[in-house]
Amino acid sequence: MQILVVEDDESVGAGVLEGLARAGFQASHVADGAGALAEVRASGPDFILLDLGLPDMDGTDLCRAIRALTTTPIIVVSARDEEIDRVLALELGADDYLVKPFGMRELVARIRAVARRSEDHGGDGQAASGSTRQIGPLSIDQRSRRVLVDGAEIHMTVKEFELLYYLAEDPGAVCPRSDILRAVWNGNWYGTTKTLDAHVAAIRKKLGDPRWIEAVRGVGFRLDVPG
Ligand code: CA
Repeated sequence: MQILVVEDDESVGAGVLEGLARAGFQASHVADGAGALAEVRASGPDFILLDLGLPDMDGTDLCRAIRALTTTPIIVVSARDEEIDRVLALELGADDYLVKPFGMRELVARIRAVARRSEDHGGDGQAASGSTRQIGPLSIDQRSRRVLVDGAEIHMTVKEFELLYYLAEDPGAVCPRSDILRAVWNGNWYGTTKTLDAHVAAIRKKLGDPRWIEAVRGVGFRLDVPG
């Protein structure tokens, strides 16, 4: 797996590269947003570790720009730990979020977890378990991981897809928050339940109508055809 590390701080970048190499990953390094976009266009890394604080470009714009080019998993790294950044990162299409300073063990564990989830759903011979869930104009195909509304494809991050697919299992039924977190995050998420809200908000926006996912106060969420 080829990991692209986008980090302008030389010492942090060098430490991360060394740690990734020790963990058995191949990694390359760029120090700014322009370099990151050039690498994504040229070589197409398998994984991107993206520092939000870069000299030449706003990190959130860059994340959005990369996501528009590729579905490669992205872990966003930020020195800022305000909730707004966490929520924003996930809305921008990042697959996970890490706050500086972080340990290499944690970073490697997160990379492996995100990569495993992507592979699990990569359509590489796992077709038998895949199925399409159709709710009105919304079509969710697990094998190809494609989401279509009225035939138009909508990009979802790994987590957004899993959440949507989970909610689509029983349209109209209320899914309790605790069940969703256990099923979609495997109980491994140690953020707040705002993470779930952020993903719901992102999916609603992408589907083009907030009524697709209804919040049931104090319980959880329900997916159904708007109207
Ligand atoms: Ca930085």
